[in-house]
Amino acid sequence: MNTKLVKIQAAGDLSSQVKEAAALIREGRLVAFPTETVYGLGADALNEEAAAKIYAAKGRPSDNPLIAHIWDLSQVNLIAGEVPDAAVKIMERFWPGPLTIILKKKSIVPDGTTGGLDTVAIRMPSHPVAAALIRESGTVIAAPSANISGRPSPTTARHVYEDMKGRIPMILDGGPVGIGIESTIIDMSAGTPVILRPGYISLKELSEVAGTVLSDPAISGRKKPENVVAKAPGMKYRHYAPRGQMILVEGEKDRVISKIRDLVSRKTAEGYRAAVLATDETIEAYHGCRADLIKSMGSRSDPNSIAASLYGVLRDCDAMKADYIFSESFFGEGLGDAIMNRMLKAAAYHLISV
Ligand code: AMP
Ligand code: MG
Repeated sequence: MNTKLVKIQAAGDLSSQVKEAAALIREGRLVAFPTETVYGLGADALNEEAAAKIYAAKGRPSDNPLIAHIWDLSQVNLIAGEVPDAAVKIMERFWPGPLTIILKKKSIVPDGTTGGLDTVAIRMPSHPVAAALIRESGTVIAAPSANISGRPSPTTARHVYEDMKGRIPMILDGGPVGIGIESTIIDMSAGTPVILRPGYISLKELSEVAGTVLSDPAISGRKKPENVVAKAPGMKYRHYAPRGQMILVEGEKDRVISKIRDLVSRKTAEGYRAAVLATDETIEAYHGCRADLIKSMGSRSDPNSIAASLYGVLRDCDAMKADYIFSESFFGEGLGDAIMNRMLKAAAYHLISV
């Protein structure tokens, strides 16, 4: 299949490219498109055969449900059964934006979209291209990240092209995304709301609107969760991962730097290719280090910059065929927590404390 990569010039208006993409969605085909979080791989969420194509293109396990993307609040009642008052408040405060809400589903949503669950994950993206595409398609668009399952999520159209070339008919290129990590997921389908995946919208912000909000035990720890049932099926898979072995180092700054330098010397002496993931504040300290790639992920004083570059940097490590990737860590509140959640999964929870 020929994959058409088209640049969107005027985002908000219904350019002919967006119309062409919407026609593909209506035909039950796949289109990759930009959102404010990461690029999505879209299909008609109400068409089971179309949703099945997403799993095939990504190589995604079929029990890992998809997020249904809407452009207008009126679409919520089409797909969600019960909508609690707190969920309405959360929608009004955070949509359109990087937040996914899980609610009881209506039967119009096929099992092929929800992995057989009786709930549906819903998000209203703020990206103008995403909104225009959903509106023009006249349906709800199921869209996971547009990467091969397990690989780092795509934050540019070029990343999507690397993974999806020959597998899908069209990619809409809206430039690099703004946020760079996936949406926060909050389960409001029963009882007290629970965060199943941390993201740009923090627990604190959500609880200011919805009262008590819990954090699922599977996402909070520094260790691989044991004996906890994954409520979001996606939580149980290795994710966001580069091909090399990623190792995170945490602790006092100078000790972290010297540990990473030491690990690099050892592994490169054994003939392996090594990458170092540093920050603007520390990158100078790796001067003279024998790593094949030394990259800053952004500034510690600006977690947004780290979120925005993380997946691109992991793909750079793949491109230079790193066997080992030694990275600094970012434990913290809010966005720092969401970043570490992705990095721990990418590193398969390989964390060294110094
Ligand atoms: P992705 O679209 O690749 O970012 O993954 C979507 C995430 O949402 C996965 O971790 C899914 O497990 C989760 N998810 C989607 N729908 C549901 C649902 N109905 N219940 C729980 N988690 C869900
Ligand atoms: Mg994904």
